[in-house]
Amino acid sequence: MAVASNLGFPRFGIKREWKKAVESFWKGKLDETELRTVADELMGRHWRMQSDAGLFATPVNDFSFYDHMLDMTALLGAVPPRYNAPLDEDVSLDTYFAMARGAQDESRDVPAMEMTKWFDTNYHYIVPEFDENTNFLIASQQPFRVVDKARSVGVEHPRPVLIGPATYLLLGKVLDNTSLAALLERLLPVYGEILRLYKEMGVYVVQLDEPCLILDLDEEAKQIVKTAWDYLNGLTERPKLLTATYFGSIAHNSDLAVEMGDGLHLDLVRAPEQLEEIVPILPEGHLIGLGVVNGRNVWRCDLDRALTLLKRAVDIRHGSEEIMVAPSCSLLHSPIDLDLESGLSDEVKGWLAFGAQKLGEVVTLTRVLNGEGLVDAQKTFAASRQAQSERAISKRVVNKSVRERQAHIDESITQRQSEFPVRARAQKNKLNLPPYPTTTIGSFPQTREVRRLRLKLRKGELTQGQYESAIEAEILNTLRYQEEAGVDVLVHGEFERNDMVEYFGEQLDGFAFTQHGWVQSYGSRGVKPPIIYGDVNRPNPMTVRWSKFAKDNTDRPMKGMLTGPVTILQWSFVRDDQSREQTCEQIALAIRDEVLDLEKAGIDVVQIDEPAFREGLPLRKQHWQDYFDWAVRCFRITASGVRDDTQIHTHMCYSEFNQIFDAIAAMDADVISIEASRSRMELLDAFDEFHYPNDIGPGVWDIHSPRVPSIDEMTELLTKALKYIPKERLWVNPDCGLKTRGWPEVRESLANMVEAARRMREEIVS
Ligand code: GLN
Ligand code: ZN
Repeated sequence: MAVASNLGFPRFGIKREWKKAVESFWKGKLDETELRTVADELMGRHWRMQSDAGLFATPVNDFSFYDHMLDMTALLGAVPPRYNAPLDEDVSLDTYFAMARGAQDESRDVPAMEMTKWFDTNYHYIVPEFDENTNFLIASQQPFRVVDKARSVGVEHPRPVLIGPATYLLLGKVLDNTSLAALLERLLPVYGEILRLYKEMGVYVVQLDEPCLILDLDEEAKQIVKTAWDYLNGLTERPKLLTATYFGSIAHNSDLAVEMGDGLHLDLVRAPEQLEEIVPILPEGHLIGLGVVNGRNVWRCDLDRALTLLKRAVDIRHGSEEIMVAPSCSLLHSPIDLDLESGLSDEVKGWLAFGAQKLGEVVTLTRVLNGEGLVDAQKTFAASRQAQSERAISKRVVNKSVRERQAHIDESITQRQSEFPVRARAQKNKLNLPPYPTTTIGSFPQTREVRRLRLKLRKGELTQGQYESAIEAEILNTLRYQEEAGVDVLVHGEFERNDMVEYFGEQLDGFAFTQHGWVQSYGSRGVKPPIIYGDVNRPNPMTVRWSKFAKDNTDRPMKGMLTGPVTILQWSFVRDDQSREQTCEQIALAIRDEVLDLEKAGIDVVQIDEPAFREGLPLRKQHWQDYFDWAVRCFRITASGVRDDTQIHTHMCYSEFNQIFDAIAAMDADVISIEASRSRMELLDAFDEFHYPNDIGPGVWDIHSPRVPSIDEMTELLTKALKYIPKERLWVNPDCGLKTRGWPEVRESLANMVEAARRMREEIVS
């Protein structure tokens, strides 16, 4: 008999109860007992949802007060010394949140631990920190408490979820030259003790997540995995160990994987080839988790296809005893329940499955595999089949003219008319900019008043006309500020936008938006990504009205602001019935048309933001070139239709460029703005070896802080930048958009920035 299984469940709750509770706790409006009560209620409810759905074993300890990697740091007592946690006590909630968010009060002022992306998802984890003084010991009871809790509400087979020792170490950061091997030696006995305690509690299986197996592992890393698992395998007092992998294939590490514990979960959605590569070589009696329902996207499962995979596994293993049917990864990365959505068309809704529905799919597949409930299952399969086939031909999905256009494009649409030096001259003649031209990244403060305008429009308290006049007033105001400060290339301020992806998605065909489709991004923060379900088409211009209004109200060059195709793709749930590359190309074509309409409306400069370009990088190096090829190509499609004298900017707000320099140069934007002030231009060191061929504006004003940068500070940064960038190609701008800042600081900082550029110009003259 196969069993239905799961790796983890969304944490926030259907009404985002957790977000609300934890934020109230931070504000002091909820005490610890009340917060823990909310946590218990949510866990209880989610366990019930899972057992009611028909799961055999229910994951526990997948819930987290902030982040599961931070939970491991607490469990293992690896609290960095700056938090001053007492060594002889369990990690308190206070310390836990101080590690997550930093703490500033009378008694201390400590920064948070570093946070970074969890593999290629939009979830962020707190990076463990190690040094020679790091010691491990059990410092949290929560992972044990939840087992009792689950049993007390009737969960028969609670399966604790922990991050495995190899992934925990390899995803952390060693601050000195302590070796991973030395850390591992201290770490393993603590894992041993945790597992012994679980065994004592009568736990049958523990899930140890080791997604590090999908990465490129060097020899040292492989040795860490091997040593760790030799140790765990050899423990006598322990439950069975299920190693969970996800987000990619582990075939390149299969020699390690087959020796890890008593079971292995594989992501067959991302890497179905693992069925033939890995399943046959697993030891006899090994538990085999088959992730056939996509845990990180929103599409309804093609049950026929999933069943084919499962049946093949039964064939390979000569029976189904060892098989656990499951989502591909934790449902943490999926919205919780489609039934909450009332705003989606019935047709689109019929193509989707969120967390709760995915569990249903897992259970149905398991039953059919076991030959149970066939009458009901037939209905479910028929419905799935119908949804798949209707989706494939739906008018909402297929847009013939878009496909026609795609079929007929050739490489000419990725080429500007002339090379950069020729364009640069044409732009110079037209724009007549001084040396060290100044500009901003697009948005100006999104004040409460501005956000309220949109709310009022939605509630019907403002007419469209009233709303638009109010936005125009904001634009005029902002233009006057930029003129008074003396900025050279102006922007309209992006007041009409709620979000840089949503704003475009709402105006493009092929996008749907949910009301409750939240997924955790970090801590209490969630995002509600748009769903791209169909061919992307731009029925009407999207931004021209606002940019033109701004252009008509100033004599200075105006920069139109757009979000790039790669970023729109990256921050959405993307359709699974064609390649990402194809979907990206459709978005690129739509944005290209917008660029051309802006040009037609007299806009001299267009910025195409690609802040998510780097995060689209595949996890394994061997896939990078392919990504670069299509991502760069899509950017060039959007940017290349314009005349030589229309200037294309792009913007990326981060500072790690080393691995992507060639791709950035290949995008061939006339001007790029990047983050640089926080790293004090250190990132420019890389420019020593790599000469960015076009214009570049390394940010001189850190917009992530309310601090007003002084004139001297900025001239100093600019002088530093001149070591790497010739003066003819250096721009002066902030790090990123100003939407999160307040007007008073913006006014002061902007004036300082312009003055810094003016002083730099004086140097040239003298
Ligand atoms: N143009 C956008 C803004 O200024 C860019 C935002 C971003 O890079 N994330 O807000
Ligand atoms: Zn930015």
